[in-house]
Amino acid sequence: MNEKKRWKKLAKQPVPRPAETRVFTISNQKGGVGKTSTAVNLAAAMADRGLETLVVDIDPQGNASTALNIEHGVEVDSTYDVLIDAAPMSDVVKQCPEYPNLYCLPSNIDLAGAEIELVSLVAREQRLDRALQEYAKYREEQGLPRLDYIFIDCPPSLGLLTINAFVAAKEVLIPIQCEYYALEGLSQLLKNIELVQKHLNPTLSVSTILLTMYDGRTNLASQVASEVREHFPKQVLDAVIPRSVRISEAPSYQQTVLSYDPQSTGALSYLEAAVEIAHKGAQ
Ligand code: ADP
Ligand code: MG
Repeated sequence: MNEKKRWKKLAKQPVPRPAETRVFTISNQKGGVGKTSTAVNLAAAMADRGLETLVVDIDPQGNASTALNIEHGVEVDSTYDVLIDAAPMSDVVKQCPEYPNLYCLPSNIDLAGAEIELVSLVAREQRLDRALQEYAKYREEQGLPRLDYIFIDCPPSLGLLTINAFVAAKEVLIPIQCEYYALEGLSQLLKNIELVQKHLNPTLSVSTILLTMYDGRTNLASQVASEVREHFPKQVLDAVIPRSVRISEAPSYQQTVLSYDPQSTGALSYLEAAVEIAHKGAQ
């Protein structure tokens, strides 16, 4: 389908509100596969369609906070304060300048120490889950709209920060880069998810796989894509994120691709992925 037709189709597709808040953890212990780009651009796509959306940045790099133009220097309260000092999320969450219904829990380099500090804390695996539940209660009490989507942007590791995300979420979204070695490390990720299901969060499932950085000109990309689809027929979205300069440029202007270049293929693709996720969840 050409892009004009895709935009036309998209315009006709409503994005229903989910019956309850959907919490996704965006995870892959490989770095550079598109986790952060997916978290911020999917969140912006949901917000663009009117849904109340929160991005939780639990990567000490704070890349999601940067892309969403949220201040996150060490002087700013962050995910660290929420996880380690039990600061209420309502004090730390910020509204993003791009959309009034898009929020971010910012992270900064303080979080790098949290992985070790968490070890000795009580309920060390449940801290994010509890914070999110308290925040939901706070919003209700304040008469604020219920959140529709929460996307947790994970660091490239399988440590306690990522485990907190697995415990707080119901759904895992795995971005897979369409390149050689794409499936490498995936079995370890799935094994960890199974362990979390068994011991900490039986409701967790890998609901969604998104192919990212797809370069249609190479055979390799299409080979990887069909291999992943064969393994995970139910989870892989039809929507595919192409390799696009616009997507990679947007964060340096503290923007998502939706506001940086709303007409671009990157914006279109993330909107398509968001619509598909919304409809898949409604089934
Ligand atoms: P992760 O969070 O998994 O480390 P990122 O989302 O930060 O991955 O992406 C890694 C790098 O690739 C970043 O520089 C980002 O801007 C770039 N990138 C992400 N998605 C795309 C894409 N679809 N096309 C081109 N570059 C991309
Ligand atoms: Mg990242």
